[in-house]
Amino acid sequence: MDQDKAIDNNTLLEADEPAKAAEYLRLTMAKLTELQLPFTPVYYGLFYIYIAGKNTTLNRKVERHIENKTLTHENAVKLFVNFFFVCSEELTEGLRNELLDTITEVVSSIIDIAGKSSISNKQLEKHIDTLSSTQSTQNVLSVVSSIVHVTRQFVDDTKQLETNLLVTSKGLNTLKNELAHARIEATTDSLTGLLNRRGFDEQLKRLLNDRRKSGAGFCIIMADIDHFKDLNDSYGHLFGDKILQVFARLLTEKTRSTDYVARFGGEEFIIILPETSMENAFMVAENIRKAVEKLQVRNTKSGDIINAITSSFGIAAHRFDESGNDIVDRCDTALYKAKQNGRNKTIKS
Ligand code: GH3
Ligand code: MG
Ligand code: MG
Repeated sequence: MDQDKAIDNNTLLEADEPAKAAEYLRLTMAKLTELQLPFTPVYYGLFYIYIAGKNTTLNRKVERHIENKTLTHENAVKLFVNFFFVCSEELTEGLRNELLDTITEVVSSIIDIAGKSSISNKQLEKHIDTLSSTQSTQNVLSVVSSIVHVTRQFVDDTKQLETNLLVTSKGLNTLKNELAHARIEATTDSLTGLLNRRGFDEQLKRLLNDRRKSGAGFCIIMADIDHFKDLNDSYGHLFGDKILQVFARLLTEKTRSTDYVARFGGEEFIIILPETSMENAFMVAENIRKAVEKLQVRNTKSGDIINAITSSFGIAAHRFDESGNDIVDRCDTALYKAKQNGRNKTIKS
């Protein structure tokens, strides 16, 4: 029993992520069907946990029972109760309730309909029996009408099951959407709407992983507005913010939708260009640089049109096995050189 307490808590946490819960529901039903076990709350609950928490002591016990064909209702109850009430110290109150709620909600839909369907089936069988033994036309008609009625009832019940399951997955989807929304907020820069540093780090990490698996290369451009401090000092911080927004929009317009544009911090921006050669990345940076030169931003306070904004760029192509920090450092050095060489330039690493 002590061994049961050693359940890997991480796998349970994973199980309770809404995005995964919907998949677990599907897999649980598939598993029960495969093993020809009934959709009772106990079997359902037990297999939901089984699917959600691989490699646990509970899973090994379930597997042993499956092998020995001893997964009776009684044994399933024992395992389920043991998991929830003996090992429950491992689960936080919130997690336990969430898990139980999900299981209960779906199970009650299934039981409800399964119960009604079996009654319908029994009625149907009875009517069919009567039909084969009956002689009178009147009787035949009445039995047929009953069969139609029971069948309709069955179809309605099945629809109800679908609706209930839809409600459940809708609930999960709402949670999923909320989670996705929170995630977007956490990785977005509020001033420009671009990815923030955290969002950039995440995408870079993902691309480095892809690189190891598929060898797909990428380039990074680091961009920095020239003498931005002077713009702030001359026209005010709010105007500076407006320039940052205009600059950010331009970066998005001049890159592909498959590129990742991020605000690296302050007036520094960074772009990841997947599957792009150094030559093409250079062309992208030069395009942006020339477009910035042409920018005309009106200062609403003074009415002045500011048209002398420039920017500098550093580019690096990822070298196989190079770390994220190393390629960003190389970009930064190239950008520094662009600044040293008079600004309004693009320098390759
Ligand atoms: P360089 O050409 O060498 O890049 O010079 P610079 O003036 O652009 O660079 P520096 O690093 O000296 O100044 C950056 C300025 O950017 C200073 C900081 O106040 C300003 N800044 C950073 N974040 C924001 C922001 O969110 N809004 C505004 N308006 N200004 C910001
Ligand atoms: Mg600058
Ligand atoms: Mg800077």
